Amino acid sequence: MVLDADIKSQLKQYLQLLENDIVLKVSISSDDTSKDMLALVDELASMSTKISVEHTQLPKTPSFSVNSVGEDTGITFAGVPLGHEFTSLVLALLQVSGRPPKLDQKLIDQIKHISGEYHFETYVSLSCNNCPDVVQALNMMSVLNPNITHTMIDGAAFKEEVESKNIMAVPAVYLNGEFFNGGRITLEELLEKMGHGVDASELSEKEPFDVLVIGGGPAGASAAIYAARKGIRTGIVAERFGGQVLDTMSIENFISVKRTEGPKLVANLEAHVKDYDIDVMSSQRAKRIEKKDLFELELENGAILESKSIIISTGARWRNIGVPGEQEFKNNGVAYCPHCDGPLFEGKDVAVIGGGNSGIEAAIDLAGIVKHVTVLEFAPELKADEVLQERLYSLPNVTVLKNVQTQEITGTDSVNGITYMERDTEEVKHIELQGVFVQIGLVPNTEWLEGTIERNRIGEIIVDKQGSTNVPGLFAAGDCTDSAYNQIIISMGSGATAALGAFDYLIRH
Ligand SMILES: Cc1cc2nc3c(=O)[nH]c(=O)nc-3n(C[C@H](O)[C@H](O)[C@H](O)COP(=O)(O)OP(=O)(O)OC[C@H]3O[C@@H](n4cnc5c(N)ncnc54)[C@H](O)[C@@H]3O)c2cc1C
Repeated sequence: MVLDADIKSQLKQYLQLLENDIVLKVSISSDDTSKDMLALVDELASMSTKISVEHTQLPKTPSFSVNSVGEDTGITFAGVPLGHEFTSLVLALLQVSGRPPKLDQKLIDQIKHISGEYHFETYVSLSCNNCPDVVQALNMMSVLNPNITHTMIDGAAFKEEVESKNIMAVPAVYLNGEFFNGGRITLEELLEKMGHGVDASELSEKEPFDVLVIGGGPAGASAAIYAARKGIRTGIVAERFGGQVLDTMSIENFISVKRTEGPKLVANLEAHVKDYDIDVMSSQRAKRIEKKDLFELELENGAILESKSIIISTGARWRNIGVPGEQEFKNNGVAYCPHCDGPLFEGKDVAVIGGGNSGIEAAIDLAGIVKHVTVLEFAPELKADEVLQERLYSLPNVTVLKNVQTQEITGTDSVNGITYMERDTEEVKHIELQGVFVQIGLVPNTEWLEGTIERNRIGEIIVDKQGSTNVPGLFAAGDCTDSAYNQIIISMGSGATAALGAFDYLIRH
């Protein structure tokens, strides 16, 4: 039995929702993954009379495709979609059977109108948190448009392919055989990248907003909900709805929720935002703000949106180490998300740069997967909390180097080592390893506001206790501001403050 009793009972309920018959076409050989795959599809077929299994030869073995009767939908799973991909399998079964994907009608129409051939392949790891969203988005496109196909490939089952393509970060999406995208990407962003996104002219035609929120992380979502609850015209422009929370594995300090996962919290945020009359314009990047009669916000795609007030909540991003090799080997051994990319370094030697909380958490996590972890910290002591340090030092496969300066990440096609200098002796040393995780904090996403509003030395927007900036009508919230601490609950609080501040401003102007 591949599925445990709990999963089976949940699955039984889902399979009752199947609308029409589906055919699983299986391509297997005699290896262990093939045996597990066959056991899985047979088990699925035994649980619903609407599912049948056919044996066939597909481009990849082991794999199986999910089809309606008489029509191949183009959704294939290469490797066994358990772990985080199990939900992708269940959704594929339901959608291929005829249950419509949960998408806005506008997006459905956009996808249906795409012409041309699009054959996507996504390399995943079954423990990757960001992968299922990408797999599910591409599967939905395949269901909706016969010109689009998608194969999910479990990197662990297709190791040779992963190595020959030099894939060191997942999800890695290929389109018609060429690398297309690395990392998490939403359906809207995929459409944008395929050249089928929302038109700039369509955006520019929108009526002016009362409050326009820039950024869709916890601060932006909270600001928009607070504004919309006042009954005023509210919009959100966000490059990636969810922000940093999407890259967070376990969240245990979002008060009133004992434990959750980043993508789950983002799904709840999105559902809460959608409960209100909020115009969400995702996959759109803000470029410039200008104050005329109203504020004008120019987007990267050229569209201009107007609003009586603006709340900036563009958050922060990983700080780069800025040494030779970092840019060259990004996604080829240089990584930033241990939860996403850690499994690709199984059995290998890696380094973590940074001895703060995120660096030490990453090192502890990675030590359970990789052969050996070297932590490099610039300061003479680690800055992480004592409990994390104790856990780290209890691990047998971790070395901590303090008071060292990283000088170069070396490699040929991918990373093969790291060069550092011992700061007290100035001796330069080199370690051979295959991966480097950079964990040295964050920088605020505010460069685009240069000359528009007042920021501090490190680029954070200076706000007062109402969330106002030095420009009347322009507010800011969350990690992009000079708030003392960067946390989800704090960002949400400051988003609420900025929205109430903006509402007060609107009453007076
Ligand atoms: C790995 C990791 C783990 C964490 N763990 C925790 C935890 O356990 N608990 C906790 O409380 N906090 C945690 N944090 C911190 C927390 O995630 C942040 O404090 C919080 O997400 C900040 O919210 P924000 O809305 O200010 O910014 P962000 O979450 O950074 O969101 C910014 C938003 O702005 C958008 N954006 C950026 N630039 C533009 C632009 N030019 N145009 C349009 N949109 C733009 C982004 O796409 C995004 O939608 C963690 C952070 C990381 C990275």
